[in-house]
Amino acid sequence: MTWEERWHPLREEWVIVAAHRQNRPWSGETVADVKSSAPVYDSSCYLCPGNARVGGEINPDFDDVYVFDNDHPCVAMNAPEAVTAPGLYRSRSATGIARVACFSPRHNITLAELPVSDVDRVLSELQEQYRDLGGRPEIEHVLMFENKGEAVGVSNPHPHGQIYATNFVFKTIETEARVSKRYWQENKRSLFGDILAEEVSDGRRILSENDSAIAFVPYFARYAYEVYVAPKVTHASLVFSPPFCIHFVSIVASILCPFCLLFVPMLSQCSLHLVSTFTVIFNFTS
Ligand SMILES: [Zn+2]
Repeated sequence: MTWEERWHPLREEWVIVAAHRQNRPWSGETVADVKSSAPVYDSSCYLCPGNARVGGEINPDFDDVYVFDNDHPCVAMNAPEAVTAPGLYRSRSATGIARVACFSPRHNITLAELPVSDVDRVLSELQEQYRDLGGRPEIEHVLMFENKGEAVGVSNPHPHGQIYATNFVFKTIETEARVSKRYWQENKRSLFGDILAEEVSDGRRILSENDSAIAFVPYFARYAYEVYVAPKVTHASLVFSPPFCIHFVSIVASILCPFCLLFVPMLSQCSLHLVSTFTVIFNFTS
């Protein structure tokens, strides 16, 4: 039985691992094997090709990955001036760019069901977005993520993700960058590289790997179904060569498919962690 606290070296916090709690009585909701009845095209979906979005704009008749500016952005270049904050509080304009990326024109498919070549197209488009948004002087960080399932606040099943290009770095990323820099200064080695070496040495938590990429449940996982997908060699950014891309998305696909079979419906939160090195962290819940 594993019952202990484990140090999360990237977040600098303790994680409680209490495996015996998996056997506790469960009186909450359970979901039977429900097959999706969603159509390929839904005339009421604001993400389907040719349909009107909430802002009135009409989607083109796209047949590939399609990215557009979010109609209800959390950050925007024309965000209003902030109201002066009282006392010790601070505020400023929510400057940035928010976009939506439709992974496919098909309404009723998931990222896990897409052919690897199509997932590769998604990654290529995200690389383009990273080049575009990350190269702007007013942008400090580009966050790309996909939340999936009503339980995590996503009611539209059309496969899509979010892009937040912000004028600040989110705290989690800032912490990962800070501790990685300090580790490099103290050890002259990459922190994430050493985490990979530990996981490869142990081997028990590796789920999938090929020449370029690897997927594993980290020793310090915060969730019962948490998977890191990472390049085996550190990359400075999301922009890397096509041969590596197809290796990388192959590993992503190899992880998504079993999870989709295990959980129906599958709920997930996936985000790209882009710093000097990067990881893709999949936190699966169901
Ligand atoms: Zn749709």
